Amino acid sequence: MMQPGREMDAAVAEGVMGYAFYRYEKDNSRCYHCGRGLYDDENGCDGECCHYSTDDDAAWTVVRAMWEKGYEINLSRDDGQIDCDFREADKEWVWASAPTLPHAVCMAALRAMGVEA
Ligand SMILES: [Zn+2]
Repeated sequence: MMQPGREMDAAVAEGVMGYAFYRYEKDNSRCYHCGRGLYDDENGCDGECCHYSTDDDAAWTVVRAMWEKGYEINLSRDDGQIDCDFREADKEWVWASAPTLPHAVCMAALRAMGVEA
């Protein structure tokens, strides 16, 4: 199981949030995660963005993205674990269980997108 951290954040940025094309600019002027300029004074990236797998607020942006893709969402707590389930219309539920909300959301979203996680 993929662990929370910047590798998982990058997988979510690319596989779920649609920032794939920024990958090739990561050493240049744009943030790999959010696509914003690294050297912009205004509205630039401070390098602390989009910690999808470790930050609750960032994880909710993943939930919203899945919602906007048309997925049904089910979140529940079970014996100290967070269960996150996504389902595309007429398909099977895809789910993940993890100790934190961001981890569970990212795992389930990656699995729903067919990314190995
Ligand atoms: Zn950024």
